[in-house]
Amino acid sequence: MQIQAFPKPLQPHLIPVPRGNLEYACLACRGRQAIDKLLYTCPDCGGVLLIENRDDRFIRNRRGAFWQRLFDYRRLLTEPALQGIFRYHELVAPILSLPDVLYLGEGHTPLIRANPALTRQIGVPFYFKNEGQNPSASFKDRGMACALSYLRYLIRSKKQKDILAVCASTGDTSASAALYAAYLGESIRSAVLLPQGKVTPQQLSQPLGSGATVIEIPGVFDDCMKVVEYLSEHYPVALLNSKNAWRILGQETYAFEVAQALDYQCDRLALLVPIGNAGNITAILAGFLKLARYGLITKLPKIVGVQSRHANPVYKYYLEPVPGRRAFRPMAVQPSVAQAAMIGNPVSMPRVIELVERYNEWSGRRNVFVVEVAEQAIMDHMLLANRNGHIACTQGGESLAGLVRALEEKKIGRRETAVLAATAHALKFSGFQDMYFQNSFPPEFEVRPRKALQNAPRTTGGELPPRPADPAYAGFVERTAAKVARLLKL
Ligand SMILES: *Cc1c(COP(=O)(O)O)cnc(C)c1O
Ligand SMILES: [Zn+2]
Repeated sequence: MQIQAFPKPLQPHLIPVPRGNLEYACLACRGRQAIDKLLYTCPDCGGVLLIENRDDRFIRNRRGAFWQRLFDYRRLLTEPALQGIFRYHELVAPILSLPDVLYLGEGHTPLIRANPALTRQIGVPFYFKNEGQNPSASFKDRGMACALSYLRYLIRSKKQKDILAVCASTGDTSASAALYAAYLGESIRSAVLLPQGKVTPQQLSQPLGSGATVIEIPGVFDDCMKVVEYLSEHYPVALLNSKNAWRILGQETYAFEVAQALDYQCDRLALLVPIGNAGNITAILAGFLKLARYGLITKLPKIVGVQSRHANPVYKYYLEPVPGRRAFRPMAVQPSVAQAAMIGNPVSMPRVIELVERYNEWSGRRNVFVVEVAEQAIMDHMLLANRNGHIACTQGGESLAGLVRALEEKKIGRRETAVLAATAHALKFSGFQDMYFQNSFPPEFEVRPRKALQNAPRTTGGELPPRPADPAYAGFVERTAAKVARLLKL
């Protein structure tokens, strides 16, 4: 729709201009740093950073209802830079101008309501938010679109040139980083470090196809992360892991979209999200807090993080009810079907600790929880979801298993509605489905298939078709149809 056709009072605001004053805020020493350089940790104390807008008067000067309306109307614009996460430009990275914005089709993923049968079985109405419908088929594209737009801004403003972007990955970060870097072409090269044998073949094919340098390291994700952190401290490389606070800003849009899709009504709403490196839950907490601060929502939804028993350091941390007595202990992980979340030492843990506190405080009660689920439950619930029309990956299965657990533990009540993150597309993790169907999980996964959820192709047998012109062809069709009819018990 053309600008003249929008309501007059909104017209001057539809296309945003660069504004605000973003700064890195250190969660450890509370120091602040300018954003004219890409920083991952505080140069003074090594603490993790979040990005804050120190000059947000232009947002505060208007009511939440104004921003709701503006974001709703922006859906009708055709400007490419505002089709994705930058629909919420003012709330994401308002210092960027539209030519900086890199848009590859990310964001605005659908909320798919569970059908009546599945709703009855689980006990509450719920939706999957299909993050697998992002361009590289996971939610990582939200953060990457923001981080790479910022790099483009640095390149354009001559603050940096010829960037080598690196990341460690459980599979999806690298797929996304390689895709977005490939779009930017010459000015940026990407290299990804993967734990050897611990990403799926589909996830490995993605950065290779995008032309990234792929380096496999024996070990698990946590080992790759340490190597990448060392690289970023000793060499001129741009780190694209969620330690990079620009990623968090982009991923906050998940919260904005959920709120917008529900007409900003977050009462009796619970979000379930798998926790790995804890970037996503950080972004969701920060995103909803932002919406509340600027008056777009009046109630904060409940947030429930989900971890597998095989990689549960955040769950264990919150088992201790007294905040002063909690102590974070990194752990060695065991093999998990929720492989993208198989992380024993999440880099965003200090962010989680701080934001959970702020979130509960704003809510006036405990409003963030973490539950733990078994590997078996993850697989069973992924298959159950997909047998009811969803496209959940194993981590999406983890979200559903987490919902069931949270209902059992009464952390979610029967009158609430849930939104579950299906963080990637089912196809990326089809190998785990194969192992389930073929009962070939190595024992350490502790997964045994349930007959009712198994599936396998059947065959009509060995008879090869003659050429269609052959008079015998009709007989082949008839015999094969009869076999199919028998298989279908027609
Ligand atoms: C990265 C990832 C996760 C974990 O998210 P964090 O932000 O690391 O907690 C979960 N699911 C999928 C599919 C992922 O790619
Ligand atoms: Zn610091």
